[in-house]
Amino acid sequence: MSGQNVVVIGAGIVGASTALALQRDGHQVILIDREGPCAGASFGNAGAIVNESCAPTAMPGIVFDVFRMIGRPLSPFTIRLSYLPRALPWMLRFLNESRRSRVNANAKNLHALTKVAEKSWRRLTSGTDLGDLLRPGGWLKVYESDKSFAGTAFARSLMDELGAPYEILDPAGIQELEPHLAPIYAHGLFVREGLMISDPGRMTNEMIELFLSRGGRLQKFTAERLEIGADNIVVHDRSDSLAADKVVIAAGAWSRKLAAQIGDRVPLDTERGYHLMLPASSSALLERPVMSGDHSFVLSPMDEGLRLASQVEFAGLTAAPNYSRIRSLVPAAMRMLPAISTKEQSVWMGCRPSLPDSLPVLGYATKCDRVLYSFGHQHLGMTLGPRTAQITADLVAGRDPQIDMRPYRADRF
Ligand SMILES: Cc1cc2nc3c(=O)[nH]c(=O)nc-3n(C[C@H](O)[C@H](O)[C@H](O)COP(=O)(O)OP(=O)(O)OC[C@H]3O[C@@H](n4cnc5c(N)ncnc54)[C@H](O)[C@@H]3O)c2cc1C
Repeated sequence: MSGQNVVVIGAGIVGASTALALQRDGHQVILIDREGPCAGASFGNAGAIVNESCAPTAMPGIVFDVFRMIGRPLSPFTIRLSYLPRALPWMLRFLNESRRSRVNANAKNLHALTKVAEKSWRRLTSGTDLGDLLRPGGWLKVYESDKSFAGTAFARSLMDELGAPYEILDPAGIQELEPHLAPIYAHGLFVREGLMISDPGRMTNEMIELFLSRGGRLQKFTAERLEIGADNIVVHDRSDSLAADKVVIAAGAWSRKLAAQIGDRVPLDTERGYHLMLPASSSALLERPVMSGDHSFVLSPMDEGLRLASQVEFAGLTAAPNYSRIRSLVPAAMRMLPAISTKEQSVWMGCRPSLPDSLPVLGYATKCDRVLYSFGHQHLGMTLGPRTAQITADLVAGRDPQIDMRPYRADRF
């Protein structure tokens, strides 16, 4: 059904993509954000559109990896002690998801979304200037030792089973693709398909500009309370309210409380991540995002500089950032790319919205057909924004989204 009034809560990549997709279907859309557009994770990520990504975060043996990592000074994974009691229920579910049968199911359901990620981006940007911010080149992971590469065997077997293409590179193949990398890598895993967004914050903001130029409305507004009426739904701020036919909750890591108001208790937590910007001169040294498989950081060549992105930190939504760990990775980045200038330009922290099974929550609320969810895109929100927006638009229009929606339901846990 077209011509509905829809409020989209959250102006990150998911909300911006959703607003555009709903607008294309002829709905009147108001996009709201409590801080302003792109105030969350969509601003500072690594910008990789990882087509056909299928390995969930909870993999067999992750429990041992977690214990090993907690003690390491350069560890990519940390839990603040004060947050541990709150994180524990999420962690236990996460460990449950690392059972082989669950991993196979989660990989299949993640792949069902990511396999058309690039196509969805192409569709969203076609006929606009947004495509200028997309770069081809794929995604490369490099490994210093046979042992660290052997750790990818299970992930590769998942990719094989699902038909997700990748290439294994030897040292010469790695140097051919990225000649400025130090010749210290024994193995590479290269996903040739896939894109990179050369400035994720600008991309999200320009998508919102496009939405506004087509008659959409953006409003600074904090969704504090949702009230289901007889023939509408009302979103309340402290002093204001917006009535709509439908509401889409796309507030990233902040979506849990809003979903709870509609009766869905969802185990959403945040995996906080960090970036550190190095000078623009260093950006020219890479063609594509390159991930160190040994240290779990990414170097991404952005328009404004080389972005060092890493870390999974469990500390909740409000604790102050701790930039020491991302700073401590600069020598490792220099070991990877010896010609970089290591002068810090800026640092940033963002909240990835994550569920224990690495799948987002999509579709209608369990108890209300005026509310739809689109949150929990974890490490793949830039990849999946346009793809999940299309699913939401299909559901609002009453079209078949051509995907089994059950794995993404809010009440699946
Ligand atoms: C270091 C790092 C690297 C990453 N790299 C990649 C990558 O290479 N590729 C990839 O695909 N993904 C990557 N990600 C993940 C990706 O950034 C996220 O999955 C994605 O940005 C989530 O988008 P979102 O729109 O759901 O949430 P957000 O971008 O966080 O947006 C949520 C918005 O909702 C607003 N909001 C919250 N509560 C309310 C409320 N009550 N009322 C109104 N507004 C509200 C917030 O102000 C915010 O603007 C990375 C993340 C990090 C941290």
